[in-house]
Amino acid sequence: MPRPSLLNPLFRSVTALKGVGPRLAPLLARFLGQTEGQDALVLDLLLHMPSAAIDRRKQVPIAEAYFGDIVTLDIHIDRHLAPPRGKSATPHRVYAHDETGEVQLVFFRAEGGWVEKALPVGERRIVSGEIGFFQGTKQITHPDYIVEPDKRDTLPLVEPVYPLTQGLSSKPLIKLMQQALAALPDLPEWIGDTRRAMNGWPDFAAAMHAVHAPETPRDGDAGGPARCRLAYDEYLAGQLTLQLVRSSLVRARCKPRNLSGELTGRVEAALPFSLTEGQKQAFAEIAADLRGPDRMARLLQGDVGAGKTVVALLAMAAMAEDGAQSALMAPTELLAAQHFRTLLPLAEKAGLSLAFLTGKTQATERRAILAGLASGDLAMVCGTHALFQSDVEFKNLGLVVVDEQHRFGVHQRLALSDKGKAAELLVMTATPIPRTLILTHFGDMAVSLLKDKPAGRQPIDTAVLPDSEYDRVLARLRARVAEGVQAFWVCPLVEESEQSPLTAAEERFRALREVFGDRVELVHGRLSTAKKDAAMARFQSGEAQVLVATTVIEVGVDVPNATIMIVEHAERFGLAQLHQLRGRVGRGSARSACLLLFAEPLGQVARARLETIRSTEDGFVIAEKDLELRGEGDVLGTRQSGMPGYRLAIADIHRDLIEMAHDDASDAIARNPGLTGPEGEALRILLYLFRRDLAIPLIRAG
Ligand code: ADP
Ligand code: MG
Repeated sequence: MPRPSLLNPLFRSVTALKGVGPRLAPLLARFLGQTEGQDALVLDLLLHMPSAAIDRRKQVPIAEAYFGDIVTLDIHIDRHLAPPRGKSATPHRVYAHDETGEVQLVFFRAEGGWVEKALPVGERRIVSGEIGFFQGTKQITHPDYIVEPDKRDTLPLVEPVYPLTQGLSSKPLIKLMQQALAALPDLPEWIGDTRRAMNGWPDFAAAMHAVHAPETPRDGDAGGPARCRLAYDEYLAGQLTLQLVRSSLVRARCKPRNLSGELTGRVEAALPFSLTEGQKQAFAEIAADLRGPDRMARLLQGDVGAGKTVVALLAMAAMAEDGAQSALMAPTELLAAQHFRTLLPLAEKAGLSLAFLTGKTQATERRAILAGLASGDLAMVCGTHALFQSDVEFKNLGLVVVDEQHRFGVHQRLALSDKGKAAELLVMTATPIPRTLILTHFGDMAVSLLKDKPAGRQPIDTAVLPDSEYDRVLARLRARVAEGVQAFWVCPLVEESEQSPLTAAEERFRALREVFGDRVELVHGRLSTAKKDAAMARFQSGEAQVLVATTVIEVGVDVPNATIMIVEHAERFGLAQLHQLRGRVGRGSARSACLLLFAEPLGQVARARLETIRSTEDGFVIAEKDLELRGEGDVLGTRQSGMPGYRLAIADIHRDLIEMAHDDASDAIARNPGLTGPEGEALRILLYLFRRDLAIPLIRAG
């Protein structure tokens, strides 16, 4: 379905606007978040929200303009006093008056005679700026506006203040906004009358005008009706998308699965531990989904180490009882390998076949695996996205488990792929996600929560230290290693191109080798799989006691004997990442420690973030805090995953609107699944406006 032509004026490139040339166009493209090589659109301008507004409505006689006021004055220009030649530090002063008093306009480094031209002696001008005092006289230093009396209308009495970037200043941006506003077509309303009336919201165009061309400084307030309406719109577009994705998942109505409980029973018996209550509950929920007629679309949420993998295995075993195959997809090679190692012995004991498939699998082995999947001999396969390449065919793929850790969005793309379309879906996430974010990013996917950790886990002592403590940390580590303890030493990844001051893992490895000899191993993303595997194997077996690594170990590596986690340049990591990293220790029954080394100087936000990690192990608290400190895109890692984020809704302020949008989206889709008629048309327009048109093909035909 093509985009309604009504929207064309908003989908034009900003280069169509007056004032956007070869310099500004690429700058706007970058600043307004367009992907490389694409122009920013007129619409992108409108979605760029001001952060405040300046009030210039105080149009007073000079006598009533007080120190610190921002005023707009109507004055007569009397004379100029230019600085003497060679005295560039002395300002250019312009003397002016009205019936009530005098004011000076002051300009530093005003060259080229422009001040004389802008303020001709003997004429009237309207000027706006902040009143200051100098030697008993009122003055305005560098007025923000100087206009001729007949152009008074061009001076914005309430002026929105936008986030800016180098090379883009306020006035030209405001001019562009005015042109963008003028391009706004008449749009049909997509919000129900009651919803709008209840909240006192303006229509879309009026909301855009209120924000970008406010009449009072409060018109564009983030919590005011105009911004709330727009935030609601954005959430509604997001919710519609998520629910369309979900209903397209559930639509295919899987057949009710026949679960005998035999294979899952064998898996349970093969476990060297008993399931936690949370695991039992989660599996019961999954089994109920599978037995039911609808397709499963469930999110299995649990903190690092909560034991999600075992639950996934139970789900896969249950599918095998029904004669269907399962695929578990992990975001990285290493994590896939980790899952495979965890699952293989359990699968073998339970008599279930399991293969491992990634992009690096050798050709002959790959052929054998593909044959097994096509014939149905293989019940389960674990791997990376290589599992979903076009030449991989399943005889009867019944369940896809996606381990997203905290790289979200994978499952949504998968849901749209052919193989994903036919299968039940279980998504595992390691970052505990606050409910608002579940709604914004997963829609109403059903959620199973693993709250409790397996029994016997010890709390982790976390310390935050400046890297000047390196020698002491090393001495302490030496002592512990001599006692037989194992430790991770994590260094931030260094870009090849970057001449970075960050400690490279390789350098640290060499330094620690001096101390620990061959009891140190190194893994990072650029090592060959063979080398990585060998290093990991030595560490897992306990032969190596110190593992120097980049964040490749952040997800998944499971070595219960490792009890020390040292992170260098901890200030460079996201909170979720640090939490994941710390989760690599504290898995056994021994007391564990986590040392976060930071480089000074440390900014305030960085300090607050490290303090959060130090003070709590509760992943939910950490996720909430991260949200507060960094914004939701970063928490979810969606910036990397390329999922469109939210541009104008602010989670902290507009939280309540998410639930509203969620309910309204469900109602709309239930009432009108094909989004037909005028109401449907309006909602489609909304999807286009917030760039969610990827959902449009999912709208049920007819
Ligand atoms: P997650 O994927 O949620 O981070 P895993 O499934 O990798 O966690 O489990 C972490 C570790 O805890 C693994 O070594 C696993 O064998 C172990 N484990 C899982 N469930 C239990 C349990 N109920 N009791 C004891 N240990 C468990
Ligand atoms: Mg895991």
